Amino acid sequence: MALLLKGIEVSKSIKKDLEKRVSVLSEKGIKPCIAIIRLGDRPDDVSYEKNAVKKLTDLGIECKLFRFETVITQDELITNIRVINSDASIHGILLFRPLPRHINEDAVKIEISPGKDIDCINPVNLAKVFAGDESGFAPCTPEAVIKTLEYYGIPLEGKNVVVIGRSLVVGKPLSMLLLKENATVTICHTRTRNLKEICKKAEILIVAAGKAKIVDDTYVSQGATVVDVGINVDEDGKLCGDVDTDKILDIAEAVTPVPGGIGTVTTSVLAEHTVRAAEQTVS
Ligand code: NAD
Repeated sequence: MALLLKGIEVSKSIKKDLEKRVSVLSEKGIKPCIAIIRLGDRPDDVSYEKNAVKKLTDLGIECKLFRFETVITQDELITNIRVINSDASIHGILLFRPLPRHINEDAVKIEISPGKDIDCINPVNLAKVFAGDESGFAPCTPEAVIKTLEYYGIPLEGKNVVVIGRSLVVGKPLSMLLLKENATVTICHTRTRNLKEICKKAEILIVAAGKAKIVDDTYVSQGATVVDVGINVDEDGKLCGDVDTDKILDIAEAVTPVPGGIGTVTTSVLAEHTVRAAEQTVS
């Protein structure tokens, strides 16, 4: 029976470290603060925001919520981002995407100050991830995958790791973080031929396709570790991942559950980045 790599355990260890760091900042009169910018009321954004605000507040991080109508113009949004950039009491910025179609996302991304860009939206931070430069902020979800494997003592060096998904939010930056850990990385996508055969060769299979339960026992080899990044809703309206977990429990060595896996760690990484951004204002 596969070991369940529960996100809550990873989050607890991150929390322990952050509590100390938040208290050191507090002695210096600094309260870490994040600005969360949301356009409209998309249910997945609202749900992520609710969970994030609870976790961040529990850790002593202030959350300032900036909510706008989806009809906001690009210029108005940029003006607001510039005001937040120049507010010294705010250390990190989280902007929910995708943005409405009338807004050019590339024009907005470059406006977020790289030092406050805690979810790696600005291309400056993304370039640092690709360069292996740790001075910026990596996107929270890819970093959550690395932190989860690290916490459970699953080494990456020299391992055959297959990533399904090549988005700029998950697949591509995650592949770069894995490469930095000296894994041998194969990136798969919708045009990949022989996907099952490639996945079967993985010692660690990471699935970030955004398609409910597409990976089953026919994709997984005996003893593999499977990381499920997907967050989907199944035919019964229940939350599920990209992996049909029940079908691989007797084959895989370890698997991350959905819910309760990478998503849980992602908000802890967001908290860590906010605290780090606050620390960088004093060091
Ligand atoms: P995306 O739609 O931007 O990218 C999906 C990628 O998967 C694409 O590169 C595509 O080529 C590939 N893909 C899709 N179907 C495939 C298939 N059948 N075979 C092979 N490749 C396929 O999605 P994203 O933003 O990268 O997110 C991926 C998943 O991760 C989604 O379910 C999303 O909800 C989830 N997600 C979770 C967190 C978290 O905190 N756990 C954060 C961000 C995204």
